[in-house]
Amino acid sequence: MKITKALAGFLAAAFLLMTALTSGAAETEAPVDDDIDIQKIEFNNTGFIRGMDVSSVISLENAGVTFKNENGVEEDIFKLLADNGINYIRVRVWNDPYDGSGNGYGGGNSDIEKAKQIGRRAAEHGMKLLVDFHYSDFWADPAKQKAPKAWENMTLAQKQSALYDYTFNSLSELKSAGADIGMVQIGNETTSGIAGVYDYSDIHKMFSAGSKAVRDFDSGVKVAIHFTGPENTAVMKWYADYLSQNKVDYDVFASSYYPYWHGSLENLTAVFDYVAETYGKFTMVAETSYAFTLDDTDGHDNTVSHWSNNTGKDLLWDFSVQGQADEVRAVMNAVNNVSSSKGLGVFYWEGAWISVGDITGMSGAELTRRCNANRELWERYGCGWASSYAGEYDGDAARYYGGSAVDNQAFFDAEGRALPSLRVFKYVVTGSSGADNIKGDADGDGIVTVKDVTEIQRFIAELTDFTDEQKNAADVDGNGVVDISDATLLQRYLAEFITEL
Ligand code: CA
Repeated sequence: MKITKALAGFLAAAFLLMTALTSGAAETEAPVDDDIDIQKIEFNNTGFIRGMDVSSVISLENAGVTFKNENGVEEDIFKLLADNGINYIRVRVWNDPYDGSGNGYGGGNSDIEKAKQIGRRAAEHGMKLLVDFHYSDFWADPAKQKAPKAWENMTLAQKQSALYDYTFNSLSELKSAGADIGMVQIGNETTSGIAGVYDYSDIHKMFSAGSKAVRDFDSGVKVAIHFTGPENTAVMKWYADYLSQNKVDYDVFASSYYPYWHGSLENLTAVFDYVAETYGKFTMVAETSYAFTLDDTDGHDNTVSHWSNNTGKDLLWDFSVQGQADEVRAVMNAVNNVSSSKGLGVFYWEGAWISVGDITGMSGAELTRRCNANRELWERYGCGWASSYAGEYDGDAARYYGGSAVDNQAFFDAEGRALPSLRVFKYVVTGSSGADNIKGDADGDGIVTVKDVTEIQRFIAELTDFTDEQKNAADVDGNGVVDISDATLLQRYLAEFITEL
């Protein structure tokens, strides 16, 4: 907007008068950083997966957490995700994340019952489900692939059979509950083993047992195998060769990609290119995430913080809301660049694992009280990464149990309100309109008319609600607030008292 200083002074005085005259008019704050700028991606696959893992969300809701849209209005989180362009939900499944007395291990107490709720709600909002079987009672990752308690003393053959049955039966239950299953992971980050099987002459047999269960369940469902450590290019290629040599029947070669650990995106694309070109498989990022702030909001240290995982040559983006959106776009772009259109999609990991009680700005006794209250919720509802009850199964949990380590990587603030970065999942398809709003075009019809003045007046009188794009467009004087001054300025523009907004 270009207006002269003198005119600005005149207008400012007029606005003050106008504002004083319109008593009772609402003054609504436009979000400060809602102007995220995302460049469209030309996707090679029309169904490119723009997915999110929200495995802990049921436990959070049980603990009283609610989710809101950008205007602070409470909504079903699955509706919020779908409305913002997410088309696929990922859910982890643990066999039996409870102790002998029924106390949950935490990490969302992510059993099949939680997965059924998540799968049903995702389907109700048009989203498919990726079922991420860990074949463990708690976290399975490169360092841990512990067998479920019930499988501990089984032979390899018995484990293969148990894995087949568990997979087939769980998928049947999920389908009956209403889930729209599109893909199944046979294990999670199975880089060193699976379900307590660590010998490479045996691991592939477990993959094959799981794959057969999925094929028998529904031949239309994709089978994914998930490794991590893509920065070790030779190792990743070795896994792809290993799967082929052992005739594992699968569709999707998946990797995690956390930019503070996993090398460059160019390298990720190169690894996936190898798999696509050599074996004709789809490739996918099964997990990624990025911090929008380095601050913690729940009293449990975060994976990425002021003193941890916050530097490195592959951290190309700011720790900001825009930076978080930029990372998502960049990872999607890297997967989309995989040769022969074999880049299938990207899942963001736990984009809603927020605080159960915001500690921001607290200190002393108040902080202690809030942290204690949060601990109680984590223990009771399993909504932290681990409860004390997991200590019997997981040595790290025994020492470090607590809350969310990724509340600063969610797409929601500590009060559950959606961040503007959530919109990246639709903006990668359309391009961001946030940066290219036509000033004054409050109703979004592409032209500035008296109708826009009316819309702004209706908004101020609380007769209608605006999206953030509309707020941007309506904030004609650009001061971050939509108020009567914007309507007045727009009227003056339309009356040709001023020639530019
Ligand atoms: Ca935290």
